[in-house]
Amino acid sequence: MILAGTDGDRGWRLDNYLARGGYSALKKVVGERIPPENIIAELKASVLRGRGGAGFPTGLKWSFMPRSFPGDKYLACNSDEGEPGTFKDRDILRYNPHTVIEGMAIAAYAMGATRGYNYIHGEIFEIYERFEEALAEARAAGLIGSNILGSDFSFELFAHHGYGAYICGEETALLESIEGKKGQPRFKPPFPASYGLYGKPTTINNTETFASVPFIINMGGEGFLELGKPNNGGTKLFSVSGHVNRPGNYEIEMGTPFAELLEMAGGMRGGRKLKGVIPGGSSAPVVPADIMMDCTMDYDSISKAGSMLGSGAVIVMDETTCMVKALERLSYFYFEESCGQCTPCREGTGWLYRVVHRIEHGLGRPDDLDLLNSVTGNIMGRTICALGDAASMPVQSFVKHFGDEFLYHIENKKCLVPPEVQYEGS
Ligand code: SF4
Repeated sequence: MILAGTDGDRGWRLDNYLARGGYSALKKVVGERIPPENIIAELKASVLRGRGGAGFPTGLKWSFMPRSFPGDKYLACNSDEGEPGTFKDRDILRYNPHTVIEGMAIAAYAMGATRGYNYIHGEIFEIYERFEEALAEARAAGLIGSNILGSDFSFELFAHHGYGAYICGEETALLESIEGKKGQPRFKPPFPASYGLYGKPTTINNTETFASVPFIINMGGEGFLELGKPNNGGTKLFSVSGHVNRPGNYEIEMGTPFAELLEMAGGMRGGRKLKGVIPGGSSAPVVPADIMMDCTMDYDSISKAGSMLGSGAVIVMDETTCMVKALERLSYFYFEESCGQCTPCREGTGWLYRVVHRIEHGLGRPDDLDLLNSVTGNIMGRTICALGDAASMPVQSFVKHFGDEFLYHIENKKCLVPPEVQYEGS
């Protein structure tokens, strides 16, 4: 749906987007003066859940914006895609930027927002330039800006690029960064819907969430929901990486069996056995192969398996993977990216990394697994933002499901998977 028809020559250009039926949803909304509450009702009926990771129902989020607020209200698109394993939003912006612009314009109409920003991850600068070009096309065609399509509806939209800090993907840190401040999360409440950008009501959605909006308007909320399964509407992009033959982005209906997705990605590389999968970006708990093979790709099934669908980044690991080494890499990432604002996260992520690092390098101690569980227990739920939990959940799940490998490292000062096999499979 989102990536359909975008692979031709310059498929991202406005004329090609219009040829694919682009902006018909915006024309319908503005031309027929559809009441904003009807649009929000359609979003609720679609059960579109936020595609950035949290999975919060989009229609409900939109309904939190105060209707009669005097002055500016803001929209922000979170394209600060920095979660290890996730690479879908950059492809939406690379191949179909106008669907994001159209989705944001419809959202602005529904919530009465006057200005919007698309916050684009700083390490993918060419995407920022492409989005700027698409904005220029949309502005010239009267699709954003003042008096859109000759109506009394106006909405200004700007691109804003970050500088690569993972924490700026947290919604309030993103707002701080747009305001020109250090990108650090704010305390909540107040929530952005009442006190957001520049202290004004603000709604923040992920790139893929906005990109889905035109389809919901065109096919109706019920039609979108039917593509998925109850409580898990529509299609979703999954970024499949790791030990598969064809890593890449796959847009599939929610509720598709994981085994089918694995097949689409060409199956396991070298015909090796699946060992474990991180199904929703590096923050999501790892799921062992036998449990994962029974899952369908939707919020409820993955949650039942003890993990999270998150941003839809599916990291596939085969039997040659050393789980201690894999966790060491993840733990370093969170240690490096903690903004340092609160003690449990700032100090705890360092502890997690150092303990896993010493286990991996043959210096583990008999009580290190207890120590890891204790440190994660002291981080979770005690921090300003979710990064503390995000750093802790992988540690807990790796130790829970692959504890034997950690113990082997501690007792034998070496890896259960011989280095030459790891190298061959890496
Ligand atoms: Fe910063 Fe970590 Fe606290 Fe989030 S949890 S505010 S990243 S120190």
